[in-house]
Amino acid sequence: MTDHRRQIPRTDAVLDDPRLAPFVLRMGRDRVKAAVNAAQRKARNGEIRPSDVRDETLRALPGDAPRQVINATGVLLHTNLGRAPLSTAALDAIRVAGGTTDVEFDVGTGRRGRRGGAALAALAHAVPDAEAVHVVNNNAAALVLAATALARDREIVISRGELVEIGDGFRLPELLESTGARLREVGTTNRTSVADYAAAIGPRTGFVLKVHPSNYRIEGFAATPSVGELAGLGVPLVGDIGSGLLAPEPLLPDEPDAATWLRAGADLVTASGDKLLGGPQCGLLLGRAGPVETVRRHPVARALRVDKLTLAALTATLVHTANPTRDALRADPAQLRRRAGALVVRLAAAGVKAEAVDTGAAVGGGGAPGVELPSAAVAVDGALAGPLRLGSPSVAGRVEGGRCLLDLRAVAPQQDEDLLAAVVAACS
Ligand SMILES: *Cc1c(COP(=O)(O)O)cnc(C)c1O
Repeated sequence: MTDHRRQIPRTDAVLDDPRLAPFVLRMGRDRVKAAVNAAQRKARNGEIRPSDVRDETLRALPGDAPRQVINATGVLLHTNLGRAPLSTAALDAIRVAGGTTDVEFDVGTGRRGRRGGAALAALAHAVPDAEAVHVVNNNAAALVLAATALARDREIVISRGELVEIGDGFRLPELLESTGARLREVGTTNRTSVADYAAAIGPRTGFVLKVHPSNYRIEGFAATPSVGELAGLGVPLVGDIGSGLLAPEPLLPDEPDAATWLRAGADLVTASGDKLLGGPQCGLLLGRAGPVETVRRHPVARALRVDKLTLAALTATLVHTANPTRDALRADPAQLRRRAGALVVRLAAAGVKAEAVDTGAAVGGGGAPGVELPSAAVAVDGALAGPLRLGSPSVAGRVEGGRCLLDLRAVAPQQDEDLLAAVVAACS
C-alpha cells in the first residue's frame, strides 16, 4: 500500500508535463492543479495506476473548442457533423450578436422591442403565404409546442405510415404523447385514405398532423391524401415538412415546402432551420395568425425560445440566399469532376496515389430520401480513413470497397486546399 502510494507522481512533476502547458496558459495553474490532484486521488484509491496519473489528468481537462471536420462523406446534411454549415453572412451576424445587441430592443424608441423581430420579419417576408411566424429551438420543439398548445388532453389524428423515428431513438409519436396529447392512429403503414381521417375526427380532435417521411420512403402499393384533401376536413391541419424548404426546389421535386403546403390549406407548418434551409438549428412555425398566436403565447413557448445567436444566424440565412447547403445541392457535377481531377494531379505531385471517381451523393439529415445527386470524389487508400479523421482539420470520407472516397459535393471549393494538405499530412 505504502509502496503503491510512493509511486504516485508528485503534483509539480505532473505539472511539468509539456502536454499540460497549453492548459495552464488557458485555464490558469490552479485549475490544472486541481485536475492533477483529482487524478492523484484516483491513484490513491486504486481506481487508476500511479503511472496513469498524467494521462488521467489530460483526459479530465476540457478539450479545446470544437474540431473542424471537412465533410467529404457525400452526405450534404450530416447530423453527426452538425447538419448545415452556416454562410459567411450568418457567421458574421453571430459575431455581432455575441456582444450586446438589439435582440429585444427598439433602437428608434429606446424601449423594449419584439424579441428576434428581424428574424421573424425575414421569415414572414420569405413566405408571404404565412400570416404569422414563430421560431423555437428545433423542429421537435415546434411539434411539442403545437401539440401542447393545440392538442393537450385532445387527439392528434395521424396516419400509421407517418409514425416516424427521427434518429438516436427519438420517436415522434412518443414526443407528441409526452405533451399530454393522445395519438389517434389511422390507416395502415402503406395506405391511408381521407375517409380514414374523416372517420376518426370528432369533438376530441385537436388537429390532424401530416408528417413528411423525410428519412424513408414507402413505395409500391402506397397512398396518402394530399394536404389539400386533409385541409377540407374541418379541423386544424398541422404539417411537418421537416427539411425546411420555404419554396419549391426544382432539384428535389418530391420534397415538400412551406409555401406550397400553406397554399394547399395547412393551418400550421413546422420545419427545421438547419436542414435544406441551410441555417442554424431552430424550428420554424408558419401559418395562420390564430394558431401561431396561440402557440406563441403558450407558457411553454418561453422554455423553447432560441438565443440571440440563433436569431442572428437565421436572419442572415434568410436575407442572403447564398449558403453552403444550397451551393452543395446545386453544384455542377462537371465542376466537381474537374476539382477531383485537379486534386488528384496535385496529390500525385506530392507522391500520393489517388484517383478521381464518379460517385452518388445524398442530401441526408432528414431530406430527400433515395435521391442521388451525381458527384465526384478523390479515392485514396482505405487505410487513410483513420489518419484523415484524426488530422487537423479532420476529414470525414466514406470507405467503399477498401478505398476511402473523399466526395466533393459537400466540400466547399475554398476547402480544397485544406483537403489537399490534410491528405498529404495523413500519408506522412
Ligand atoms: C428532421 C425532422 C424532424 C426533427 O427536426 P429537428 O430540427 O432535428 O428537431 C422532425 N420531423 C421531420 C419530418 C424531420 O425531417
